[in-house]
Amino acid sequence: MAQKRKPKLAVWKFASCDGCQLSLLDCEDELLAIAEAVDIANFPEASRAITRGPYDISLVEGSITTPHDEERIHKIRRRSKYLVTIGACATAGGIQALRNFKDVNEFISIVYANPEYIKTLNKSTPIADHISVDFELRGCPINKRQLVELLNALLNGRKPNIPSYSLCIQCKRKGNICVMVAHGTPCLGPVTQAGCEAICPSYNRGCYSCFGPKETPNTKSLSDVYSQMNISGDEIVRMFRGFNAYAEPFRKESEAHEK
Ligand code: SF4
Ligand code: SF4
Repeated sequence: MAQKRKPKLAVWKFASCDGCQLSLLDCEDELLAIAEAVDIANFPEASRAITRGPYDISLVEGSITTPHDEERIHKIRRRSKYLVTIGACATAGGIQALRNFKDVNEFISIVYANPEYIKTLNKSTPIADHISVDFELRGCPINKRQLVELLNALLNGRKPNIPSYSLCIQCKRKGNICVMVAHGTPCLGPVTQAGCEAICPSYNRGCYSCFGPKETPNTKSLSDVYSQMNISGDEIVRMFRGFNAYAEPFRKESEAHEK
């Protein structure tokens, strides 16, 4: 009897540090089951073997920063049935999107000895600004358990069970004492999407939102609380300008406090 074809999985990299795609290799306990369930067809971090597309699932890491990236992502979209973006770079432009608030040519002239060799766009943008995306998996890096859940859902034709509510919910479920209420430590938890199990507040630190904005975050209300805590407008700008600075709600909130 002919063997059923395994779905083809491809992993693609744009401007990024590789940490999110390495989360797939970090799935030690589940990796063999994943390799059983899919044909890992394109994953240069794991293997030199490449199988030609089309692909059933493409995981895309990184942001679009060059004219070449802009062309390549359209080709990948055309060859992918499901295309999922993974991590803060792919879903929000990443830490490299801090340049979007300044003149990129100024950075190039300072950083590179021969700026004429640099071909870059003036903004670092998320993948969804260029093509349609089937799902966005947040985090810097992503949570490997959420990645396994996502792959499982796609392979079984169901909706991924990945929450869009705030980090505060995970934090309260863990029984943490709120660092904002108890110590006056600023925390972005109320506007951050859950996913990390509230690591930072569990160690008495405020969250700096590596998972990016939750669904419909009330950033204005949180900034009002920060102002009542005597946190300056400049500090509020810096708080919203982290890994997810160019995610729309955070971008707008930081711009509202810029002098
Ligand atoms: S510590 Fe942060 S994440 Fe936890 S409940 Fe307080 S504001 Fe929310
Ligand atoms: S608590 Fe916030 S900053 Fe810390 S890991 Fe979680 S999302 Fe990232």
